[in-house]
Amino acid sequence: MSKRITGIAASDGIGIAKVYRLVDPDLSFEKHVITDVNAELARITQAMVASTNELKVIRQKAAENLGEEEAAVFDAHIAILADPEMISQIKSVITDKKLNAEEALKEVTDHFITIFEEMTDNQYMQERAADVKDVTKRVLSHLLGKSLPNPALIDSPVVVIAHDLTPSDTAQMDRKFVKGFLTDLGGRTSHSAIMSRTLEIPAVVGAGDATTEVQDGDSLILNGLDGFALVNPTAGEKAKYQAEADHYAQERAEWQKLKNAASVSKDGRHFEVAANIGTPDDVQAAVDAGAEAVGLFRTEFLYMNSDRLPSEDEQFTAYKQVVQSMNGKPVVIRTMDIGGDKHLPYLPLPEEMNPFLGYRAIRISLDRQEIFRTQLRALIRASHYGEIRIMFPMIATVNEFREAKKVFTEEEAKLVAAGVPVAEKIKLGMMVEIPASAVFADQFAKEVDFFSIGTNDLIQYTFAADRGNEHVSYLYQPYNPALLRLIKNVIDAAHREGKIAAMCGEMAGDKYAVPLLMGMGLDEYSMSATSVLRVRSQMKSLVTTDWAKVVEQAITQCRTNEEVKSLVEKHLQA
Ligand code: PEP
Ligand code: MG
Repeated sequence: MSKRITGIAASDGIGIAKVYRLVDPDLSFEKHVITDVNAELARITQAMVASTNELKVIRQKAAENLGEEEAAVFDAHIAILADPEMISQIKSVITDKKLNAEEALKEVTDHFITIFEEMTDNQYMQERAADVKDVTKRVLSHLLGKSLPNPALIDSPVVVIAHDLTPSDTAQMDRKFVKGFLTDLGGRTSHSAIMSRTLEIPAVVGAGDATTEVQDGDSLILNGLDGFALVNPTAGEKAKYQAEADHYAQERAEWQKLKNAASVSKDGRHFEVAANIGTPDDVQAAVDAGAEAVGLFRTEFLYMNSDRLPSEDEQFTAYKQVVQSMNGKPVVIRTMDIGGDKHLPYLPLPEEMNPFLGYRAIRISLDRQEIFRTQLRALIRASHYGEIRIMFPMIATVNEFREAKKVFTEEEAKLVAAGVPVAEKIKLGMMVEIPASAVFADQFAKEVDFFSIGTNDLIQYTFAADRGNEHVSYLYQPYNPALLRLIKNVIDAAHREGKIAAMCGEMAGDKYAVPLLMGMGLDEYSMSATSVLRVRSQMKSLVTTDWAKVVEQAITQCRTNEEVKSLVEKHLQA
């Protein structure tokens, strides 16, 4: 009998493979006085040689699979292990203080780490501190006879199990071998979940204790469609889910036929199905998926993938590349949304009790205007090369929008005066992701060119439930009538003023939400590129006027998320 682990379905698809646990072993040890100095010196030397040899293999693999740039970090690690100053200090602690090798290593490396970390204005040295930490971990693991996970060495099909995933973990993996992700933490809209969808790797997140329930050597079925994993499946289960995986692959092949088609409902109403991107590299996936626009470019990833604030020219090049790749189709670019769970190592933010309710997004942009103005100038310059629309994240008040618009207008005027070619009209919109702006949409609609509803945040703020916290993930309730009323209010308000209502949160690609949103007349649906063709295919089978009636019933007669979901299921089957 297999063991079942349930979590949250975060990225579609089914992966069947051996487990790869991306979990650090316990590296704790006792400090003690030694009697045999030579034996201890031999231990530390051996551990350092073994670490160096291991890093050389990892470096080689990383260069082959991922390229020289990703491999270079391991050169820095190898260089640290060869540092004569550090080696001699570790040996002195063993010889003079008669301490065990683990303690000598820790004392000396802690000292270096502190010195580097204190150089707060020197980004390079701060990164070296992180490198020394990594190297210390590796040498300790050898001293303690434990092995560290090395994602760069994955060279056969695996499902990766981790407490949580970071972009630097996934950067080290050769994606063709990664058949799935299973994580202890996270919700459907946590950034690790969004990343899995961008990478098109099936994922289940928020699975509680998966990392302790699954052992190396286990095999696993990871079902990212329904949100569970089966540990050590039987032959019968393997056959069943392999068939489901094959069926899903066939369905995807069917959807491919719609790549160049318009997104039209059964009763002939046209909608726009767009893709969300995080970096200019993602735009190809949007084009390949036949997206009619980029509905959300999360520009903060440009900042997060850099070791300093990206310059105006660097940003200009990135934005220009994206609009040009979209070949005349609109690209909605959101200004920097840092804060919450997204941080920049080089832009220290205040320690906050509630970062999601704190200094983030437009609040930072309006406060640190030099950063905001640089970004706006880059965007305005890039507008000459295609259709750029700009939107501001986390707008809570009309004054915030007005202030952001004023800064935009000033920068635009300066560029025009300097003779820089810019688009005649750049549409300015706002994300509706704070309940106050959803409630007050009728007034906002008079000032903006478009709305884009950010349901990931709108749901977290409406139900007061942290989007990344699996303990409250039951409050991610996209069909709850309270939320549907807010969304309908926004769409109706936009339409009364002749403005576009878009949605770029994950709900826009949800198969039970799409019919309701069509019934409400939402104009644009922006989602992970992998969902674009599925949604276009679904739209073909739906009659918007029928769904308008279902919406009415949902928001006036249903009281719970589950009731609305059942109502939708019933009508989808009819
Ligand atoms: C949202 O909040 O719905 C959204 C699209 O933005 P992000 O997920 O980047 O916060
Ligand atoms: Mg948001």
